[in-house]
Amino acid sequence: MATIEWRSPASEMAVRQFDIAAERLNLDKNVAGRLRRPDRALIVSVPTRMDDGSVHVFTGYRVQHNDVLGPFKGGIRYHPDVNLGEVGALAMWMTWKCSLVGLPLGGGKGGIACDPKKLSRNELQGMTRRYTAEILNFIGPEVDIPAPDMGTNEQVMAWVMDTYSQHKGYAVPGVVTGKPVDIGGSLGRREATGRGVVYMIMEAAKHLELDLAKCSAVVQGFGNVGLVTARELAALGVKVVGASDTSGAVWNAKGLPMAEFVLYKDKNKRVQGFPGAESVPGAELLELKCDILIPAAGEMQITGENAAGLKCKILAEGANGPTTPEADQILKEKGIFIIPDILANAGGVIVSYFEWVQDLQNFFWTEDEIRNRLREILNRAFHEVIGVSRREKVDMRVAALMIGVKRVARAMLWRGLYA
Ligand code: NAD
Repeated sequence: MATIEWRSPASEMAVRQFDIAAERLNLDKNVAGRLRRPDRALIVSVPTRMDDGSVHVFTGYRVQHNDVLGPFKGGIRYHPDVNLGEVGALAMWMTWKCSLVGLPLGGGKGGIACDPKKLSRNELQGMTRRYTAEILNFIGPEVDIPAPDMGTNEQVMAWVMDTYSQHKGYAVPGVVTGKPVDIGGSLGRREATGRGVVYMIMEAAKHLELDLAKCSAVVQGFGNVGLVTARELAALGVKVVGASDTSGAVWNAKGLPMAEFVLYKDKNKRVQGFPGAESVPGAELLELKCDILIPAAGEMQITGENAAGLKCKILAEGANGPTTPEADQILKEKGIFIIPDILANAGGVIVSYFEWVQDLQNFFWTEDEIRNRLREILNRAFHEVIGVSRREKVDMRVAALMIGVKRVARAMLWRGLYA
């Protein structure tokens, strides 16, 4: 993203991926130059009253990468490592993701550098409300619609929605997605990302002629995305043999007993110490033998350093940006089938789109309708990516990016440059 303030490993990686796709597409140089950078970025100070009476000033971000296809859309992340470059990279990936699956939405992302686990409910609420107030003029149902990401959940979305609505003087449910169903959220949104990952694994297994009932899986990051993915895979008969979170990693060669494991995580807020499994070092988890590996935590987990050690057949990227371009090259040589992030985890933004549409129409759908429409959109995108990958002789990631980038570029050329 060219200038110094954007510099971070994640943004450099996002731009490198974009450049590979742009070159394959022979993209107009002027359009490429524009797409390498976000439209707009906001850095805000978020003074928050802590429980001991002091005021702590957190730093918050909202980056809007591109809205040529529709309003900006993207999550809000609470994590100590959040910075402008990372949020910029995540916003760019949102642009390609929305475009790839054909949503009338652009790409954005936000976040606050903080450790939500160390904040009380009061502190979390105060920080969220002040952050919302600071970005208030830059979000809205027609402008930019946040959603949950790492470290945030439906409660945080409810506070964002309430703060925005209090300022407007009336309820505006369409300002965020991933809200509780009681205040205009959608059925199936909480499960959407994990469910989408599983639909894509099912398509990949068909494509590779693998019998899922004979497959094993490992999940890095047992949070919203990882937990739902693991639970739904187990329901299909997949043996989920390993899982991790920030507390550590656990392993059971016979398969983790899923119902008990989920209950344990729910109660203890960690996977470490689960009596039905052995503990393994977190770094080794990714290199355990399994058929399907699902990174569902942070960026750049699979790198030039550890990619050669991966033993899976399918890499399904629940997380955004878990694999570096160096690792991509190694995985390609090893013949590992990658379901790239902008396809594998697009279920979240697809059902967020459904939630937004339902809010705007004040007309709500059944969970079956949501599941079926989600699956239809994802399966269509999967086969489109396979088609481009075959025709253009590129890997799944480059194919997915080529489709996403091309739609955005075409729309930009139609709309022209306003100067
Ligand atoms: P979450 O906060 O619910 O869960 C993240 C989990 O990862 C936590 O259990 C945490 O302990 C664990 N974790 C963090 N760092 C780890 C590490 N180094 N090793 C092992 N575990 C680690 O977040 P989430 O919403 O599930 O998001 C996970 C990933 O999925 C992120 O990359 C996010 O951008 C992506 N994603 C989320 C959604 C969504 O709808 N929530 C949609 C698309 C993509």
